[in-house]
Amino acid sequence: MASEAKSAVRRYRMYINGEFVESAGKKYFPVIDPSTEEIMAEVPEANEEDVNRAVAAARAAFDSGAWPQTTAQDRGRILFRLAERIRKEAAKLAEVESRNSGKPIVEAEYDIADAATCFEYYGGMATKVLGQVNPVPDNALSLSLREPIGVAAQIIPWNYPLLMAAWKLAPAIAAGCTCVLKPAEQTPLTALEFAGYLADAGLPPGVVNIITGFGETCGAPLVKHPDVNKVAFTGSASVGKAIMKAAADTVKRVTLELGGKSPNIFFADADFESAIDGALFGVFINQGEVCSAGSRILVEKSIYPKFVEAMSAKAKTIRLGPPLERETKMGPLVSKDQFDRVRSYQELGKKEAKLAAGGGRPASISRGYYVEPTIFYDVDNSARIAQEEIFGPVAAVIPFADEAEALRIANATPYGLAAAIWSRDIFKALRMVKALRAGIVWVNHMQPTYVEAPWGGYKQSGFGRELGPWGIEEYLETKQVHINLNEQPIGWY
Ligand code: ADP
Ligand code: MG
Repeated sequence: MASEAKSAVRRYRMYINGEFVESAGKKYFPVIDPSTEEIMAEVPEANEEDVNRAVAAARAAFDSGAWPQTTAQDRGRILFRLAERIRKEAAKLAEVESRNSGKPIVEAEYDIADAATCFEYYGGMATKVLGQVNPVPDNALSLSLREPIGVAAQIIPWNYPLLMAAWKLAPAIAAGCTCVLKPAEQTPLTALEFAGYLADAGLPPGVVNIITGFGETCGAPLVKHPDVNKVAFTGSASVGKAIMKAAADTVKRVTLELGGKSPNIFFADADFESAIDGALFGVFINQGEVCSAGSRILVEKSIYPKFVEAMSAKAKTIRLGPPLERETKMGPLVSKDQFDRVRSYQELGKKEAKLAAGGGRPASISRGYYVEPTIFYDVDNSARIAQEEIFGPVAAVIPFADEAEALRIANATPYGLAAAIWSRDIFKALRMVKALRAGIVWVNHMQPTYVEAPWGGYKQSGFGRELGPWGIEEYLETKQVHINLNEQPIGWY
């Protein structure tokens, strides 16, 4: 019975000022399991009033109370405890993540472990934020102090839900900021599970608030709020541009990690088997719902026919299926909207180029937002499928004649998040590394990501860097302090 099914759906609450609460309007919205298209949970629908409550809590926690009194050691230990808790709950978190986002359970397990590692990394970094003594030419002591920016609004996407939350929250907490995190409306569940760990780890109320809602009605008022000092956003280029404009009115600090159309470049001298695997992994991991997806596959002409054939043959063997099955290599897309969007690009590709694999829904699966891993070849780099971010398992294979042409095509995009080069010629590879306009360049690999190394884009892929020491910089202000050591100050009057 529908009513029974409905009562079985778990209702989550969101987290404001250390308490689990309903939205001001007592409204909820459904969270969909993309492999069944059924409702798997309900979460509060936050509106502007809730945003105001959450920002007020974050503001108060930043300005007074226990948080500003914490030492770097205290904050580090809180982060270590959060990491430990994530590891303890990893199996449950991975299952929720996998069901909610559609990603294969094995990938979800990696994501949860990476989230814990991120908290550990910034737990260690909390005590390594150093000021400086500036060598001013006077009898004075000139210092630069590093201080937290204040209240951070953190808006994240649905492709790596808990991991993106970790990338945002861990450095902010280490720096001493307070946070209002808004998960994507499609995938709020692991962040709400995580909210339950915060108080146990010793975090005072208001330091981290997690509110669930939609972009227009929850994200937008958060970005505009005058008590927010910084906005950290990961998501689409169009929303990133709107956020940058909205943040201008109150001169908020902004970091943006936006989309990409990253080239994965294969020279004829690359190891062929590794190259095929690298091309598939680069574009199809996480259903291709990856900002750094190697969605433009550039292949040197002498190996091009063989490459297209081998890649397509192997793509057809990728196992699609329920995300919770361990053998599954590709799950459904996250939502109906994303499914429709990717389907329309599959159809567009058939007009713009030649189809080598996939191109539709898998015939064997009747339910869920599954699409086939799809490969188009003989794609012109100016085609829409080579210029627009699809954010799904759709590859555009493009031939090139030589190094100069590879470079020209690779850089002919408004984006600049990532790139990869496959070659056994170190001189050629390094020439490419230098000339590619991208924030991340892999050689003979694509996609491995480490908390120790900087992550972020060139050009319209955004600005600011996450992870590593760069990640905490984005949550710090620099204060100059001048201490006069003369008996009399210098002056004219
Ligand atoms: P997609 O279109 O793939 O869902 P978005 O960039 O729209 O990607 O979503 C990323 C995040 O940005 C989500 O948390 C979403 O709710 C949020 N968002 C969407 N629109 C806005 C907006 N106008 N202001 C602030 N946040 C927004
Ligand atoms: Mg959107």
